Amino acid sequence: MALSAAVAQAGDYGLAPFETAPGVYTFWGEQADLLPSNGGNIANAGFIVGAKSVLVIDAGPTRRYAEQMLDAIRATTDRPIIAVVVTHHHQDHSFGIPVFVEHGLDVIMHPGAAAMLVRDGDILLNFVTELVGAAWTDGTTIGAPTHPITEATSIDLGDRDVDVEIFEGGHTPGDLVVYDGATKTLFAGDLVFNGRVPTVPHGDVQTWRGQLVTLDKWDWRRLIPGHGPLVADRTVLDGMSDYLAFLEARVACSYRMGDSPAETLMAEVPDAYTGLFGIDREYQRAVLQLFRKYDETAPPPCP
Ligand SMILES: [Zn+2]
Repeated sequence: MALSAAVAQAGDYGLAPFETAPGVYTFWGEQADLLPSNGGNIANAGFIVGAKSVLVIDAGPTRRYAEQMLDAIRATTDRPIIAVVVTHHHQDHSFGIPVFVEHGLDVIMHPGAAAMLVRDGDILLNFVTELVGAAWTDGTTIGAPTHPITEATSIDLGDRDVDVEIFEGGHTPGDLVVYDGATKTLFAGDLVFNGRVPTVPHGDVQTWRGQLVTLDKWDWRRLIPGHGPLVADRTVLDGMSDYLAFLEARVACSYRMGDSPAETLMAEVPDAYTGLFGIDREYQRAVLQLFRKYDETAPPPCP
C-alpha cells in the first residue's frame, strides 16, 4: 500500500495484487482521503482465480483504475475473466464498470445499487474529480450492470464455487458480498470498514447492525473489508456495530431533547472511536444526515 502511494503519478495507480489466500487476490486501497496523490484509490478490490476462470470483485474508482486492474489481473493469470461483482454504487467501487462492459464481461450488481448510480452517478463523479483531479478521472463515465441480481447466486469458476449474497438497506440499498468457500474468504464490501469510520448517508443503522450480526456468524476465516486492512478477528465487527449504535443513540437522544445539530456536535466523541480514520469529518456528516432523516421519520427511542 505504502509503495503504491509512493510511486503513484497522476493516472498510474501502481496496482499490485496481493495473494491474500490461495487463488484469492486483493488490491488494497489506501486508508486515506480522496486525494490527488491517490486518484481515489481508497477502497479494496480483488479477484478469485478458479481452475477455468476468474471473478473480479469491484470495479474501482475510475476508468484508468479498471483498465490497470484488468492488466494486473492478466499479468497474474492467463485464465479468462468472466465477470465483476460490484458490491454497491459508491464511486470508489463502481466507476470502472464501463471498462468491464467494453471488454464483454458480465457486470453483476444489485438493481437498488444500479438505481442509485443513475440517480447520483454524475454528482459523485464531479465530486471525485474536484478532489483528485481530472488527470485521474478523465474518460470515466457512469455505467450500469449487465446482470442485475435480486437473489443470492453461485458462480462456478471451475472446481471453485463462489457465492454472491445480497444485503439490502444497511450500508446502501443494494450491497453484495462475495464468499469463496474454498478458502473461507469473504469480500464484505462496505458492510465492513476496518479502522475507518463507516459512512451512513445511504443506509440504515439498525439494518446495518443486523447485517453485521449475520456476517459475524458466517463461517469465514478472513474477511476483506471495503476499507482498511484484512480482518481476521471478529471483534472488528463488534467495534463497528458499537460505533453505529453510539452514533444513532447520540443523535436520536439529542433530536428528542430538541438540540440542534451544532449542539449535538459539541459533545465529545468517546475515546474508543477517536482513533478511527476520518472520524472528524464523517462523524459530523453522519450527525447532519441523521438529523435530516429524523425530520422525515421519527428517530428511534433514546436508549
Ligand atoms: Zn460505500
